[in-house]
Amino acid sequence: MSNRRNFIKKATLGGIGVSTIKTWSSAFVSVQTSKFVSNNNKPVIISTWDHGFEANEKALSELNIGKTAIEAIVSGVGICEADPSNRSVGYGGFPDREGKVTLDACIMDHNSNCGSVSFLQEIKHPIAVAKKILTDTPHVMLSGKGAQDFALSNGFLKENLLTPESKQDWKKWLIKSKYKPVINMENHDTISMLILDKNGNLSGGCTTSGAAWKMHGRVGDSPIIGAGLFLDNDIGAAAATGLGEAVIRTAGSAMVVELMRQGKSPLESCKEVVERIYNKHKNSKDIDYLQVGFIAVNKNGNHAGYSLRSGFNYAILDDENGNRMEDSQFKMSWNNQITN
Ligand code: ASP
Repeated sequence: MSNRRNFIKKATLGGIGVSTIKTWSSAFVSVQTSKFVSNNNKPVIISTWDHGFEANEKALSELNIGKTAIEAIVSGVGICEADPSNRSVGYGGFPDREGKVTLDACIMDHNSNCGSVSFLQEIKHPIAVAKKILTDTPHVMLSGKGAQDFALSNGFLKENLLTPESKQDWKKWLIKSKYKPVINMENHDTISMLILDKNGNLSGGCTTSGAAWKMHGRVGDSPIIGAGLFLDNDIGAAAATGLGEAVIRTAGSAMVVELMRQGKSPLESCKEVVERIYNKHKNSKDIDYLQVGFIAVNKNGNHAGYSLRSGFNYAILDDENGNRMEDSQFKMSWNNQITN
């Protein structure tokens, strides 16, 4: 991952970021009529982790050809879902302790329309299924076999998502694990993406294969509106990565948005929710392995990321500086030194 990240940094400095700025500056220069002007009628796209960089680029190119923000999210995070070298999202994701790859995803638009899938198997693009639920059903969330049946009846293909590499790692895990589901912070990085579009409307999505070696049937925060993702188009949007159980317990993303509603900045809001998560979990036996991170953007295009532990980064694309990686601020290092 660090090599990829170095490449990303170089690529941004060496031209990709610069050309990005040109592309969307010219694309949106004629949009003058929207009453929303605080992001200069330019999109802001923020996504979790290194894989967010490429996803942001893709989402921007979709917006530039006139796609909606939720279409752009499906295409952007869809790159990660289809990438077998990405071991935490979609195809190639680490399986649960039974060796099954089970996927969670959700999507939300500026009118608070939502679609979500949980515990979905053998479908490569859960985010696209979530969008289909949003557009074509009266429901928000479909789960397990019902979600799969819905996907199949809408033309999605049934595919084996367990790659030989992930299968091998799972077999190795079985040998030393005693079949215990673990809190393991190394091997699961959801991609969450938030978009403030040229009209000042907010959308978001997230997709993940969840925690590696989890119990069969476990669902994390990522498909849960309010936990892994939340937005209020009058205020801002937020999304999470990290231990889903901790994010669900604190209604993480909804809380970040509510704090922004109370006047806090995206950074202050993410920080306060991370602080709450820390306080709720600090006496837990798993605190040494606990990681959670949030990204947030408000209606003015101000954005931030903040995590409990060091090591969380996110890709941010805006008009001012193009697409680039940022290391988030964090509360503490992995050896429990409080920094912030
Ligand atoms: N939040 C995801 C889950 O708990 C995993 C992650 O983002 O690291 O399923």
